[in-house]
Amino acid sequence: MRSPIDSYLADLHAELLDLTAGTPYQGIPAMADADPSKFAIAMATVDGHVYRIGDADLEFSIQSISKPFSYALALDDIGLDAVDTKIDVEPSGDAFNEISLARGSGRPANAMINAGAIATVSLIRNTDAPRFERILEHFSTAAGRRLELSDSIFASEALTGHRNRALAYLLRSFDIIETDPSPVLEDYFRACSVMVNTQDLAMMAATLANGGTQPRTGVQVMSKEAVQRTLSVMTTCGMYDDAGAWISAVGLPAKSGVGGGLIAVLPGQVGLAIYSPALDLHGSSVRGVAASERISADMGMHFVRAA
Ligand code: GLN
Repeated sequence: MRSPIDSYLADLHAELLDLTAGTPYQGIPAMADADPSKFAIAMATVDGHVYRIGDADLEFSIQSISKPFSYALALDDIGLDAVDTKIDVEPSGDAFNEISLARGSGRPANAMINAGAIATVSLIRNTDAPRFERILEHFSTAAGRRLELSDSIFASEALTGHRNRALAYLLRSFDIIETDPSPVLEDYFRACSVMVNTQDLAMMAATLANGGTQPRTGVQVMSKEAVQRTLSVMTTCGMYDDAGAWISAVGLPAKSGVGGGLIAVLPGQVGLAIYSPALDLHGSSVRGVAASERISADMGMHFVRAA
């Protein structure tokens, strides 16, 4: 029998299918032909139950939803203070690919914009295993299954990512990145090209909601300190230049990706994920934002309770 939550999600999904605004990301040729009719919603509770509707098994590239998980890995690898010397925690209010580096120091404004995310990758340990192996293992452990890289999206990113390349070399010139920027950039592109489905993202979001412990496997993926910091930065910076409107309307830490995925986290309760590839002007899924607003309002998830 369908639970009330399943029925609610089915109704919402059917209603929002009519929302056809926006365009799939055109910046990476391998992603430009994504089918805008695809739409999935998944919610994973901290005890491991998943509610899902629509194309929840369809895979797409994680893109910028990689950033909070890479950030948490760097925080656990070298500690909060060491990460903070390289990457600030201030909302830039700029688009995801803006060159938001502090005058003088070159420190990126935060780890959710590309500049900060590329710097983040450079801080992830390269010992024991190659850096990207560790990143992929980290994402996979949070998702609860082995994830894979899309070689075609990675190749497309590497071919067209001139602005990201410029950012990486700029970060090197400021000694924010202290090594050869080229392998760092490649691992950033690889992190963006990891394939996930909407259920994976809901489990990854639920791992954040659950203080870093994967709800189904019980594996501690991240420390509580890393999770607290990551969720804080997602709250202020996860939606880039839409962060203010987002927190006003939805009231949850969140992260969007140009692949069409979006996650939101209600700490202690639930991880929400939505996929639909048509994007708004901020690079966030149009249906993803609309569904999040509705779910947050209908289920009372906003962190500030209305009177
Ligand atoms: N790979 C994309 C880039 O680096 C990710 C951007 C995003 O998802 N907002 O430009």
